[in-house]
Amino acid sequence: MKLILLGAPGAGKGTVAKMLTAIDGSVQISTGDILRGAVQAGTELGREAETYMKRGDLVPDSLIMGIMENRLQEPDCAKGFLLDGFPRTIPQAEALGELLERLNITLDMAVNIDVPREVILDRLCTRRTCENPECQAIYNVKSSPPQQEGICDKCGSAVIQRDDETEEAILHRLETYNEKTAPLIGFYEKKGLVKTVSGTSSDAVVGELKAALGL
Ligand code: ADP
Ligand code: ZN
Repeated sequence: MKLILLGAPGAGKGTVAKMLTAIDGSVQISTGDILRGAVQAGTELGREAETYMKRGDLVPDSLIMGIMENRLQEPDCAKGFLLDGFPRTIPQAEALGELLERLNITLDMAVNIDVPREVILDRLCTRRTCENPECQAIYNVKSSPPQQEGICDKCGSAVIQRDDETEEAILHRLETYNEKTAPLIGFYEKKGLVKTVSGTSSDAVVGELKAALGL
């Protein structure tokens, strides 16, 4: 499957993407994970991206398009991909359209994962992330804590609160989403690609998408 996952920060795009990869071997491509990995590795890309990310601002479109142009041509994308956190702006969506046309790839669907604002705020404030850039497993102090407090079940690294998960940065990320990313729903509606699903339960989202894709 070749899907774009749209939805506010905390809507569960990453969780849904991970569940979908298990179905048909499609790969999850998370620009947030790629950028955090680059920040930790101290690469040039990471250094450029870091100041924007800490504030909860978007990284410039040119940096993101460079990442995606390379990533979409890697061989593992042939089976399909789930774009998680990209595109985030209308210019990114337009550039993606041109890139896919050039690579002769057709999207199946743009999934709009819809979650009420109170649920989003609660999820983001209680979210914790494994700091190992190769892992980046997600936990929640209330609903799914690691077995041993502060330690990742999967890799044993420290589980931390992200720099951009302070209350101030969270509110700013949500504002940025409403202003820059929410318009993508209309953009993909015009192309007849949008499917809106209620994201309160990630299991239910995956069930609905399987049915819609005939899987
Ligand atoms: P979330 O969806 O929870 O906000 P992500 O992990 O997707 O978090 O992204 C974290 C940060 O990485 C964003 O706040 C932004 O600074 C940067 N980022 C990720 N994807 C993009 C993108 N497509 N365009 C611009 N910035 C991005
Ligand atoms: Zn881990």
